[in-house]
Amino acid sequence: MFNEKFGREAARQLEVKEVISEALKNDWFELHFQPIVDLKSRSTIGFEGLLRLVHPGKGILPPLEYIRAAEQTGGILEIGDLVLELGLQALERLHSKPEWQSTYVALNFSAAQFLPDLPANLAQKLSAHSIDPDRLVLEITETTLMQNNMGLASLIEDIRNLGCAFALDDFGTGFSSLSYMNRFPVDTVKIDSSFISGLDETAGSERANKTHALIEAIVGLSKRLELNVIAEGIENEEQLRCLIEMGVETGQGFLFGKAEPLDTVLSGQTARQPEIMSLPDMKLSNTGYG
Ligand code: C2E
Ligand code: MG
Ligand code: MG
Repeated sequence: MFNEKFGREAARQLEVKEVISEALKNDWFELHFQPIVDLKSRSTIGFEGLLRLVHPGKGILPPLEYIRAAEQTGGILEIGDLVLELGLQALERLHSKPEWQSTYVALNFSAAQFLPDLPANLAQKLSAHSIDPDRLVLEITETTLMQNNMGLASLIEDIRNLGCAFALDDFGTGFSSLSYMNRFPVDTVKIDSSFISGLDETAGSERANKTHALIEAIVGLSKRLELNVIAEGIENEEQLRCLIEMGVETGQGFLFGKAEPLDTVLSGQTARQPEIMSLPDMKLSNTGYG
């Protein structure tokens, strides 16, 4: 049974690997952008870039499976470079519109991308696109912090010294060792969507009470450590109400918008734009990455 399962997985991996190299060759990868919003006003303050493989026969493939395969085969470096390039191109286009001049883009980074030349590579690409480093956020997970201990803290420090910010993604699902918050200087904590969906449980039930307590604890700790908080995966008004009540100011989720191609964002069909009136005040401190 083991051999059979192993064989199936190996075959699947090979298949995914082939699709990845075909996608890179034929420009099937696209970056789509999900709005990150100020929960009270619902205006969009930034975007998370999410990778999509637009396959001519199979349609849009979500990233988790091929990202994992790419991480195992080394293809993640090429994909990561492409994501960075597409993210910066998007920022350049967004910043050319008055209503998006102060927006930012957050990109997901895998552990394998934290190589010694990453800070120089980022600095070079940001400058080539004339993007202020504080408009780029790097999202990393607790697993990345665990996997890549050697030298990671100093790479993060160098990249933060450039001016980029870091967000700890999927917070609460990994090992959530509080020592990471101490050792690795991040700016933002993203509460994983599993906590947010836990808010759907019947009020007063044990699970609902525990979910509330956990979110409140994450928010309280983050505030004490002067970290911003973003709630992920907000899907309904009731979740939104609870989160605002618990002091969460920033979030993303299908309630506000799914990840869309940049052209759709720019056509104003999805993301609610910030009030132009408030643009001069829009510094990092009120974009969720202060
Ligand atoms: P993530 O970074 O935590 O991204 C959030 C995921 O939640 C996205 O899934 C997004 O579409 C989904 N999501 C957002 N709002 C909602 C909601 O209200 N309800 C539900 N059910 N889902 C919501 P997606 O795009 O499938 O991405 C999955 C993961 O793949 C990402 O999780 C990230 O870890 C990884 N990923 C995506 N793009 C990249 C990339 O460019 N590089 C790397 N290394 N990883 C990436
Ligand atoms: Mg993310
Ligand atoms: Mg996440």
